[in-house]
Amino acid sequence: MDTSVTTVKLVPNVVGGVFKHSTSTRTLPVIDPSNGEVLANVPMSSKEELNEIVAAAVAAQKEWGKKSVKDRVQVLFKLKSLMEENIAELADVIHKENGKTLGESRGSITRAVECVEFATSLPQIMNNSVLEVSQGVECKVTRTPLGVTAGITPFNFPMMVPLWMVPIAIGCGNAFILKPSEQTPLSAIELAKLLKKAGLPDGLFSVVNGDKEIVDAICDHPDIKAVGFVGSTKVAKIVYQKATAQGKRARCLGGAKNHLVVVPDADPEMTASNVVASVTGCSGQRCMAASVLLAVGEVDHILDKIKEQMSVLVPGKDMGPIINASSKERICGYIDRAEAKGAKVTLDGRQAKSEGDDAGYFMGASVIDHANSEHESAQDEIFGPVLTVIRCDNLDEAIAIENNNPYGNAACIYTNSGETAQYFSDHANVGMVGINIGVPVPREPFPFGGWNDSRFGDGDITGPGAIDFWSATKKITTKWSDKHRKNWMS
Ligand code: NAD
Repeated sequence: MDTSVTTVKLVPNVVGGVFKHSTSTRTLPVIDPSNGEVLANVPMSSKEELNEIVAAAVAAQKEWGKKSVKDRVQVLFKLKSLMEENIAELADVIHKENGKTLGESRGSITRAVECVEFATSLPQIMNNSVLEVSQGVECKVTRTPLGVTAGITPFNFPMMVPLWMVPIAIGCGNAFILKPSEQTPLSAIELAKLLKKAGLPDGLFSVVNGDKEIVDAICDHPDIKAVGFVGSTKVAKIVYQKATAQGKRARCLGGAKNHLVVVPDADPEMTASNVVASVTGCSGQRCMAASVLLAVGEVDHILDKIKEQMSVLVPGKDMGPIINASSKERICGYIDRAEAKGAKVTLDGRQAKSEGDDAGYFMGASVIDHANSEHESAQDEIFGPVLTVIRCDNLDEAIAIENNNPYGNAACIYTNSGETAQYFSDHANVGMVGINIGVPVPREPFPFGGWNDSRFGDGDITGPGAIDFWSATKKITTKWSDKHRKNWMS
């Protein structure tokens, strides 16, 4: 596999199985955020180029959709093996284009492999069912592919997030067009190479590079039947409205503001290390990252440990960079303004010295303590290694703050009491709850998905709900007259 990204000049599209350069003159640089180096240029493809991709996908899907699901998932078994065999090279691409540490990059591939593995069991879990509903009358439900489908993905998990969608969409018999983030388009090309090597027929997995313009074209294209989106809430809402206005299915996952509640009976060691991992993993650039800590009662002994562990993390060694200069500036702006409003910056990562290249967009972990729940640092998605601490007198006050936030991805409580944990999970206004786990990502076969402004459209993006999203059910009711009820199999 050629993963020498430094030699890539222009990122190709994948059109009918062919790696083809766009003719667009509008390009953006793909930058390694750890040193500012330009890895490649990514084209902003035209509507006509999307039309060509869709036409090839329509043609390819016709035969693919007729195959049995058992036949289709054979490609996914091969994809899983290829990803495992090439994990070092894939991790290197993610590390370069996204900045995640190599360990985090490998971890994201392992999670992606689990999604592929889940889809290999489609023949067992598709739940086609049949029942004799009255004497001699049979009802049967089967699943039919939708046709050509598309996914639009963010920068922060360039391999894992596409693989939340691709294996199930393809396994269900569809063709899939991926529009990766223009900031991290290289992993998508590696995925296309692996799917080709795994034997996926040409045209069933395509890549179209671009920005807003091409996303609009995807939403408008009459031959694209369903759109999966993962990214910020602002764009998720726009894409959901545009796609559904054109009669498409759409499931659009948005941003997050995740709350961690710490109560006095929490295990100090376990809580501290778990909170730190949640805030600083992927430098806080995860939709499941902890953002607000609701400190209930006297928990200063735990907060001190959190701060102590965060303060020794070295950017460039323990933490990767922020994706770009303007994001780093935006994150630091939140800290500046919280300080100006009277909150205490008890750990300041704004000027942290990095072990990486000075030209990289590194920053250290930060803690904003004694914040007011109305502060923007307590309300907005910051998407960086910043923990905002709000002091609360009791658990109900903490739950009210969590409940009032418009997002609804994840929330977690640290406690040794089963009763407190149950009370919290009953009242948290989110799709994913953690009990002593600060990144409560449900592992396969359990589904991933938030609530409220963290998701537009019904259902979860992985797990059984994904099968419903990427297929249509057909209900067949049958009755034969007695004289025709012979056993055709004999
Ligand atoms: P983003 O919304 O800026 O971009 C996501 C995708 O949308 C990209 O492919 C981009 O090209 C496209 N896009 C950007 N602006 C657009 C517009 N105006 N119209 C149409 N398309 C547009 O997100 P990002 O910065 O790449 O990723 C970070 C965000 O993704 C965070 O908010 C994070 O919480 C969220 N995210 C959510 C989940 C989840 O599961 N809920 C998972 C990962 C990331």
